Amino acid sequence: MNCFVCGAEMRPFMEKSFALKHLDACRYVRCESCGLVVAETLYDMPHAQWQQLNRECHAAYQHTDALAVDPNWLPRLHAQAELLTSLKNFGVIDSPAVDFGAGDGKLSDFAGDWLKKFDEFMSRPDENYLTELAPGTFNFVITCSVFEHLLGAADVEKIFDLLTDGGTCALHTLVCEEVPRDPNWFYLQPVHATFWTNVAMKKIFAQYNFKSCAYHVESRLWLMFRDEEKFSRLKSCAEKISGTWSFAADFVDYWKVKPYRS
Ligand SMILES: [Zn+2]
Repeated sequence: MNCFVCGAEMRPFMEKSFALKHLDACRYVRCESCGLVVAETLYDMPHAQWQQLNRECHAAYQHTDALAVDPNWLPRLHAQAELLTSLKNFGVIDSPAVDFGAGDGKLSDFAGDWLKKFDEFMSRPDENYLTELAPGTFNFVITCSVFEHLLGAADVEKIFDLLTDGGTCALHTLVCEEVPRDPNWFYLQPVHATFWTNVAMKKIFAQYNFKSCAYHVESRLWLMFRDEEKFSRLKSCAEKISGTWSFAADFVDYWKVKPYRS
């Protein structure tokens, strides 16, 4: 197969056995140009099986200790909500705003009602969940732990197309300089289909018309701006927001060294 980000050829990279009902061995391929790695087995899987696999893993995840899988989950969520509240108060981001792939909606619960929730796979337990998303209507879209579940260009496009021409996207996922060739790497989870590198992110950053970028270390969030004025506003108020910032006119390639954690 060819890389959906840059079009170059993807070569066999590694295999991992999950021994699940809906996923036994998983094959991974790597782009020889941008280094993107995808789980070819998941990409090739019939959609119904992919949904069954998600349900199988989701059930297992809820019944094991979620914090053991990701001990930083709750502190990070609080840091993210705190950051979003500051950004909203300083006029760096504004509504309409949505948390795409909100899951149980905790981020919005902590940040406030202005941040709407959307999740394809969750029932909608409160009125802050949107049922439909109109493309081109959101000034702010945040996705946390979503990009590793995407299955190609159409999924990426669906998210970025929600934004207005001057919209801002916040992103939390794992991005590394080079995906480790290690079947025991903690990030090789059965429903993780796409593993992003700095080079691959830089390509989609340009492709979807983002102009500048900030990374906030404590909340593990990238902010990708189409509107330079919003970016300047962030730079002028950043020192009033607690935490460490990194700024660039391109995707901020913050994570360069192993071991890669989220
Ligand atoms: Zn590529």
